Amino acid sequence: MLHADVVVVGAGAAGLALACRLGEQGSADVVLVEAPPGPARPPERTWCSWQSGPGDWEDAVHRRWDRVQVHAPSGRERTYDLAPFAYTMVRSGDYERVAAARLSRTGVVRVEALVDRITGDGVVEGADVAGRWVFDTRPAPPARPGRVALLQHFRGWTVRTAQDAFDPAVAGLMDFRPPQPPGGVAFGYVLPTSPREALVEYTEFSRSVLEDEQYESALVDWTSQVLRLGPFEVLAVEQGAIPMTDAPFPRRVGERVFRLGAAGGATRPSTGYTFAAAQRQARAVADALREGRDPEPPPAYSARHLRMDGLLLRALDGGFLDGADFFAGLFERQPTERVLRFLDGSTTLREDLAVMASAPRAAMLRTVLAGALDR
Ligand SMILES: Cc1cc2nc3c(=O)[nH]c(=O)nc-3n(C[C@H](O)[C@H](O)[C@H](O)COP(=O)(O)OP(=O)(O)OC[C@H]3O[C@@H](n4cnc5c(N)ncnc54)[C@H](O)[C@@H]3O)c2cc1C
Repeated sequence: MLHADVVVVGAGAAGLALACRLGEQGSADVVLVEAPPGPARPPERTWCSWQSGPGDWEDAVHRRWDRVQVHAPSGRERTYDLAPFAYTMVRSGDYERVAAARLSRTGVVRVEALVDRITGDGVVEGADVAGRWVFDTRPAPPARPGRVALLQHFRGWTVRTAQDAFDPAVAGLMDFRPPQPPGGVAFGYVLPTSPREALVEYTEFSRSVLEDEQYESALVDWTSQVLRLGPFEVLAVEQGAIPMTDAPFPRRVGERVFRLGAAGGATRPSTGYTFAAAQRQARAVADALREGRDPEPPPAYSARHLRMDGLLLRALDGGFLDGADFFAGLFERQPTERVLRFLDGSTTLREDLAVMASAPRAAMLRTVLAGALDR
């Protein structure tokens, strides 16, 4: 059996971020266990996040936008300047290539194996590896169900249009013109990389995923009747479902075994954004190991942000809050920089109160009362 100071299980967004940091720091022997090609490996995807200044993955950045557009359900269009932030897109294939190059310059050992179980004392079964510390990034359910379990589910097409149809300088963050589902919210998302090429995605925050034909018809309706793209070919398809829940995701699951990334609570319940928080967690773990501290990953979001998110999700799920109006209004009523920091979970209490004041008070009050009566 191979013994190491640190074993990282899973080579996705969080696992590669941690392995690269630890390898470059050189303070520990590291083994990275990745699933062999097959169903345990997630399909290619794109990760977007807000960034101010260059990040750790500059070489993997595919595209960056300084402005975003939001369409209210009425069709009202507003464009917001993001400075000092930029909306940054990283494709998972580029991320993996950059990570492979970074890792090849370190002593990190890569092992391909399907992990079955990790024992409390750090034995990674299925990989014949043991670690003093083990960081598990495989997808994992929460410790117990939450009070609300919505999904952010989506299907996107990378399209090439016959005519110029996009402004590559502006990302379409939320277009609320598609019909809204009951007890949820639906919007389109446009990430243009040239005047004729973009990722166009139909997204819902609701209780359950749709059938393939439903995503397809929502995409057809929105791209033809709302975006009026004209003829286009579909170059690639991306589909996914990200849990939006107030359920707890434990980060320490054994004396020396931790969960990291989406499995360790890095998904912001109210938005589904995960990538930036997974990077923050990886950085904090690497710092703790370098300084000889206990390396439990820090919570990805403050307890206050999680409580606010729980309230928002319950308001959406209970049909108390019109999600399309709320999210479109958020951008209209708040300074853009504050909204971005809110979406990222780094706003102060005063700013959070201002953000919550954007929600109709009666809706939030009804949610709180409904929650109190449910207990
Ligand atoms: C299609 C899609 C698009 C998304 N877009 C965004 C976005 O734009 N912005 C954002 O912030 N978030 C986004 N997310 C959410 C989140 O960022 C991603 O899910 C992200 O990949 C989570 O990183 P992770 O490292 O926690 O998990 P993953 O990247 O899923 O990594 C888990 C790893 O565990 C490995 N594994 C699984 N089982 C085993 C096993 N038995 N043995 C060994 N290895 C195993 C897998 O192969 C994988 O490499 C998106 C999610 C999806 C599904």
